[in-house]
Amino acid sequence: MKNLKLAAREQKERTIVNVGSVEVGRGLTVIAGPCSVESEAQTLETARAVKAAGADMMRGGAFKPRTSPYAFQGLGLEGLKILEKARKETGLPIVTEVIDPRDVSWVAEFADVLQIGTRNMQNFALLKEVGKAGRPVLLKRGMYSTLEEWLNCAEYVLSEGNPDVILCERGIRTFEKYTRNTLDLSAVPAIKELTHLPIIIDPTHSTGRLSLISPMSSAAVAAGADGLIIEVHNQPENALCDADQALTPEMFTGIMAQVRPLQAFLEGSRSLAEAQRF
Ligand code: PEP
Ligand code: MN
Repeated sequence: MKNLKLAAREQKERTIVNVGSVEVGRGLTVIAGPCSVESEAQTLETARAVKAAGADMMRGGAFKPRTSPYAFQGLGLEGLKILEKARKETGLPIVTEVIDPRDVSWVAEFADVLQIGTRNMQNFALLKEVGKAGRPVLLKRGMYSTLEEWLNCAEYVLSEGNPDVILCERGIRTFEKYTRNTLDLSAVPAIKELTHLPIIIDPTHSTGRLSLISPMSSAAVAAGADGLIIEVHNQPENALCDADQALTPEMFTGIMAQVRPLQAFLEGSRSLAEAQRF
């Protein structure tokens, strides 16, 4: 991958992306929250629940890139104001998607991390804009994209002077229909060979199945992922977007009780293995 002047592994020590007091790239960073911001009550209740369960950041879309133009498109500015309230109350930094280059500068006033969704991974105008926004960027892998194409998109952001890119594997399209996408977990160690940037896993959109979110979260941690981004809704049955795959706060609490000890165990065994090598 000779075109990666800034993203290539050999260019740099591993990048730690600082978001307030959260360090993405050190330990396991868990981002949780609803697919979309629907109301103040829904967002604040979910924010309190994910905070209590031990999440590090809150997610929630105010702009939703929907497959159908008639589906709920998000609350826009009103949604961002609700997210601001959630941050104020819980202290959790906010991760939210931006879909239009014209919105980047003002969305950045509300967001702690700007998310670029799978459908916009190669929207080069948008990538250049978030490269200038002065906020960390969560760059999801395009559902039809190779690792090389994905890293070139990270390069777009880096080359605009923004060093804070977090990669997110969210599943790719294959012939398999049982799952919504196919989670490419080999991307985790492969990305670590290729770049110094942190990588997190989205077990929600990659599987699209409630029953698979917990096992794939553990598998992501075992593969060495730097974090997870998981959809949680205070009342999944009433969710306006991705209702079938939203976890209840109780289910999310169960996953946290599983992944934190697993990560601590693996970190301990890696340190032990390194100590024995020297
Ligand atoms: C999301 O995380 O809200 C989302 C729309 O995900 P993706 O872009 O991966 O489909
Ligand atoms: Mn969703």
